[in-house]
Amino acid sequence: MSFSATMMDVPLTIDLVVDRAERWTAGIEVVSRRPDKSITRTTYGDVAKRARRLARALVGAGIRRGDRVATLMWNHSEHLECYFGIPLSGGVTHTLNLRLHPDEIAYIANDASDRFAIVDDCLLPLFDKVVAAGAKFEKVIVVGKAGDHVPYEAFLASANESTTLPKLAETDPLGVCYTSGTTGKPKGVVYSHKSTVLHSIVAAVPDSLGLSRADTLLPVVPMFHVNAWGLPYTCALVGAKLVFPGPHLDAASLLELFQNEKVTVGAGVPTIWLGIREALDANPGKWTLQPGLRMIVGGSAAPEQMIRDFDRLGMTLLHAWGMTETSPIGTVSRVPPHLADADEDTRYRLRARQGTPTPLVDICIRNDAGEVPADDKTSGELMIRGPWISASYMGGHTPDRWTSDGWFRTGDVARMDQHGFIQLVDRVADQIKSGGEWISSQELENTLMGHPAVKEAAVVGVPHPKWSERPLAAVVLKPGATATADELRDFLAPKFAKFWLPDAFVFVDAIPRTSAGKFKKTELRDTYAKHFT
Ligand code: ADP
Repeated sequence: MSFSATMMDVPLTIDLVVDRAERWTAGIEVVSRRPDKSITRTTYGDVAKRARRLARALVGAGIRRGDRVATLMWNHSEHLECYFGIPLSGGVTHTLNLRLHPDEIAYIANDASDRFAIVDDCLLPLFDKVVAAGAKFEKVIVVGKAGDHVPYEAFLASANESTTLPKLAETDPLGVCYTSGTTGKPKGVVYSHKSTVLHSIVAAVPDSLGLSRADTLLPVVPMFHVNAWGLPYTCALVGAKLVFPGPHLDAASLLELFQNEKVTVGAGVPTIWLGIREALDANPGKWTLQPGLRMIVGGSAAPEQMIRDFDRLGMTLLHAWGMTETSPIGTVSRVPPHLADADEDTRYRLRARQGTPTPLVDICIRNDAGEVPADDKTSGELMIRGPWISASYMGGHTPDRWTSDGWFRTGDVARMDQHGFIQLVDRVADQIKSGGEWISSQELENTLMGHPAVKEAAVVGVPHPKWSERPLAAVVLKPGATATADELRDFLAPKFAKFWLPDAFVFVDAIPRTSAGKFKKTELRDTYAKHFT
């Protein structure tokens, strides 16, 4: 006789989150800032109802299981309705990155065979360019002034209450997001219902991002960027109030919203927090923020100095690492209880690392000799596996990104200390090889950003006649601050081997960035390609 578990077999699908929003967190507010800066307020209960209406309207309009529906939208409550409504219809939400070039957006929309598009009226000028660049959609639904397109509200009103929604399987696709394409063409990563539900739960646990219904979260990270790190799903699940900034991402607008909506957690890339720090330092006492405001930071390394500066301002930065392929949360950096009494420098060093894996995912670091020891010296490529880590790209591109024993190769170079904390040292492609020795551009730039005059710094390898490549640092100084190349070199000298020190420091107004706010090192390398020749 076989012995079986007696538990209910409940598929982990998004309707679990929507049902909960409707029944148990219905009254919690969802706040959106509109392009004209006005504020609108709704609740999870209403969002859930309207999401079901959207799902029925989509089914009525012909969307079938697995069909892709694109969104070209800022962060606001209608986008949240799409996050729920499209997958409830059986469709797949394809969040288009509005910061990309129209040609690229068109390529991505066609590659994913998007059938419908749901677009913000303020983004119609961009959308028209995307269509002119060759993107084809059968139906275009517009939030706001729709012109010749279908108004979103009318589309919702067209839903027939008797339309039955499909029964979802947990392995069904729920959303698709494209990688930024720094290496080759952008590639689609397809999240499943199950991967999304599990990621949403684990993101909330205390030693992960630690989110609860006591929180009010403002995702600065766009909803077209790895589902705003999955945070809208997590917030709906735990019942945290959500505050969406719309298109207003400047420091003053964000701080005003933090203040007025009593935000307890923000989430965004380091550039956002750099701007916030600058605004707070320039206007002491101007904004009253919640005591102990937390800020989740990822997407690029959070420099240690930034973590220290925010502590001084009474806020806590929480450093996390992830990728589009990892849904995105892979590791989070929290000082464990047994190191809580370690000296201050040790604790800051740990917090500036990318941290340890969240529950249910595992990491390892491998180089040509195999798995590297946790000696904080030997580096190798970071590998990751788990239930919300992609097992392939859409269309099966570049299968060599996965090892034969089931790990995803991240393309990040890292080392691990004795506590299991990883430190990213570079992207594989950004490492600098000088005279046969490797130099980590990220370590140099993180240290440079600790100099009191430096706002931002990016280090790249530039061709050199003798050493094949030498480091060059592009530096943005803080407003009104001064520093010379010699001063910056002297600042780095005690911390690095001599051959690591950049041969050149160039002072620039801004460092070119990708659509995701990361340093665009390819452009820097091109600009300075002949600097040493
Ligand atoms: P995301 O949208 O999360 O930034 P991408 O797929 O666009 O995801 O980029 C992932 C890459 O960003 C990682 O492979 C890594 O190089 C970099 N990255 C993400 N988080 C961090 C971090 N905390 N520190 C350093 N680099 C990071």
